[in-house]
Amino acid sequence: RGGWLEVICGPMFSGKSEEMIRRLRRAEIAGQRVVIFKPRIDDRYDATDVVSHAGASMRAAAVESVPELTARAAAYDVVGIDEVQFFDESIVAAALDLADRGLRVIISGLDQDFRRLPFGVMPELLAHAEFVDKLQAVCHRCGGTATTTQRLVDGRPAPYSGDTVVVGAAEQYEARCRDCHEAGADAV
Ligand code: ADP
Ligand code: ZN
Repeated sequence: RGGWLEVICGPMFSGKSEEMIRRLRRAEIAGQRVVIFKPRIDDRYDATDVVSHAGASMRAAAVESVPELTARAAAYDVVGIDEVQFFDESIVAAALDLADRGLRVIISGLDQDFRRLPFGVMPELLAHAEFVDKLQAVCHRCGGTATTTQRLVDGRPAPYSGDTVVVGAAEQYEARCRDCHEAGADAV
């Protein structure tokens, strides 16, 4: 039987983790073997959790690489992949292959970076998916419909150039609507 690919995307705070957890819990209730994989970024441990901003959580497994994910996914019916923007581009072929082998693959990640540009592999995954959900958050500034992620450094819009990690600066993220999103001072 064929599987398929579902993508959940949107800015930070839009409920992607909650939605991932909701879908996997229901699959679990249906007696399916489910797992969530996360990219291992700096965790020292294999086991970790997907935690939503509202506090819901579910056990997840941190993987080092896409081949590791592929190998471990074989034992499951439903595979969640969280924070997909942090995997390299080989995650696209890997996800499609799992779906071809009959797995239900549920992918969650940011659709735009803090500059509002398409984020990593997400555009390709959206094009390949059978089902796509784009979630919105509440704009931290005006209460409107937030579709972007605002990056702030020391309380000001982060520059669009330069490193993703700014050493020694207090970094913070907010969900913002189209009108309230502020470009970095160096944006063209
Ligand atoms: P994501 O995975 O997309 O970052 P989460 O599932 O972790 O989102 O968090 C969604 C939850 O965050 C909401 O249900 C709500 O309780 C809380 N929340 C906090 N700030 C906001 C906001 N600005 N907009 C929407 N939800 C928010
Ligand atoms: Zn706004």
